[in-house]
Amino acid sequence: MHSIEELAGQHFDAVIVGGGINGTGLARDLALRAHSANHPLRILLLEKTFWGAGTSGKNSHLIHGGLRYLKYFDFGLVREALRERATLLKMAPDTVRPLRFELTAEGPLDRIFYGVGIALYDLLAGKNRIGKSTYFGGRLAYWDAASDSAALVIDNMRDARHYGAVCIPGRGVRRMTADSVELDNGIRVKAGCVIDARGPWIGGDQMRLVRGSHIVLPKLFEGNHALAHFHTDGRVIFFIPWGELEPVTLIGTTDIDHGGTPDKVDISWSETEYLRAIAELLFPHSSELPLIGTFSSLRPLLTAAGKSASSTSREHQIGFRPDGVLEITGGKYTTYRSMAEEAGDLVVRKIAPDDGLDQVHPTRSTPFAVPTKRPKTIAERIEWAKREEECPSLEAFLTCSTNWAWQKRWTTESLAPIAAAFGGGIEEFLERHSPCD
Ligand SMILES: Cc1cc2nc3c(=O)[nH]c(=O)nc-3n(C[C@H](O)[C@H](O)[C@H](O)COP(=O)(O)OP(=O)(O)OC[C@H]3O[C@@H](n4cnc5c(N)ncnc54)[C@H](O)[C@@H]3O)c2cc1C
Repeated sequence: MHSIEELAGQHFDAVIVGGGINGTGLARDLALRAHSANHPLRILLLEKTFWGAGTSGKNSHLIHGGLRYLKYFDFGLVREALRERATLLKMAPDTVRPLRFELTAEGPLDRIFYGVGIALYDLLAGKNRIGKSTYFGGRLAYWDAASDSAALVIDNMRDARHYGAVCIPGRGVRRMTADSVELDNGIRVKAGCVIDARGPWIGGDQMRLVRGSHIVLPKLFEGNHALAHFHTDGRVIFFIPWGELEPVTLIGTTDIDHGGTPDKVDISWSETEYLRAIAELLFPHSSELPLIGTFSSLRPLLTAAGKSASSTSREHQIGFRPDGVLEITGGKYTTYRSMAEEAGDLVVRKIAPDDGLDQVHPTRSTPFAVPTKRPKTIAERIEWAKREEECPSLEAFLTCSTNWAWQKRWTTESLAPIAAAFGGGIEEFLERHSPCD
């Protein structure tokens, strides 16, 4: 572990700003690439709060091709995501697992429409199909995958560190140029290549910030499968089995333009009502159930004039900006590994153009070197978070190291043993995370 003061004036081959899935994925790509080619590279990854604190830790936790993008004829995006789904199932079996989806469709015409969609989805998956789908007759059903998305961010960081990258949380960057970054405490670090992976914090005219919110209710239906509900307004709402501490159902998402800062992203009253109304439509008894938790995050989408938030492209953008900084943004969590590979090629072509490193792509087939299976008991899990992740606080533990913040109704008493391990923080946590019915 390096102290921040040690970094002053040092030179790194690549400095990555932002510890979401895109930043940590790229750090792992470069570190593993350098290790595989026996070509030392100095890599620095900086995150202003904690690993996975942005969108990457607060999404729908799906590793999926995106059945609904077929509606927009985004076949390339769907095919790439299905290929990445297969790679992640193989490379990260402790954090990514297959999940069966049943699909609700209203009338016979919808059933035919979505039946054809599922058949096409399987066709695009080819040899990467996971399980047996049902296209016609009976319940429409298909297979995708789910992840513990904050854990996979942290595993990428831990693996990058294992292969020699310097990874520092709790330290923001306030200025970046093509060959240096200035930290928020004034320290400057020199770099062969600077990469901006700040997700929604990148901002700029090209970026449209769209908020997606989830609600969590007690488990609504029997079985371990998820539901994909294609709503009459054209949105798809997922009902996902969730909860390590007690069984709950995760329901989301909404898709609405976000006017404020990326530092404060909360569900609105109307989003809660919208999601609860759809839950009630499918499960009338849910109106009696308490709201356990809610969380929201932002999609940085590339602007497309006249398009709705749902239909704006999820394609990624990777390239050098006029200021010489490499930007990696947009896309989907599911395709982070291939995005990191594409960005990694651009980095090594800049910093070591004659060394052939852009032909070295080990993340396609190298499983994580660090152990990724989390312990089960709360005490062991706290110990793991402190040792493996340098988890600094109760808030970081419950929202990043785990997703427990939203999976249980917490009280001062139930938080006490966990808070003791992190030096307190109960009041602030309850103020921020208590849902009101
Ligand atoms: C509601 C919702 C649900 C989604 N569900 C899915 C899904 O199920 N499956 C899927 O494939 N995709 C999903 N996505 C998309 C996916 O989650 C995102 O594409 C992905 O997480 C973006 O990752 P990122 O690393 O670019 O950004 P982030 O995860 O937001 O990371 C950016 C990081 O940069 C840090 N940072 C910001 N400013 C600074 C600074 N000045 N210095 C240092 N660090 C800084 C932040 O703290 C943050 O940790 C969803 C998106 C949303 C909004």
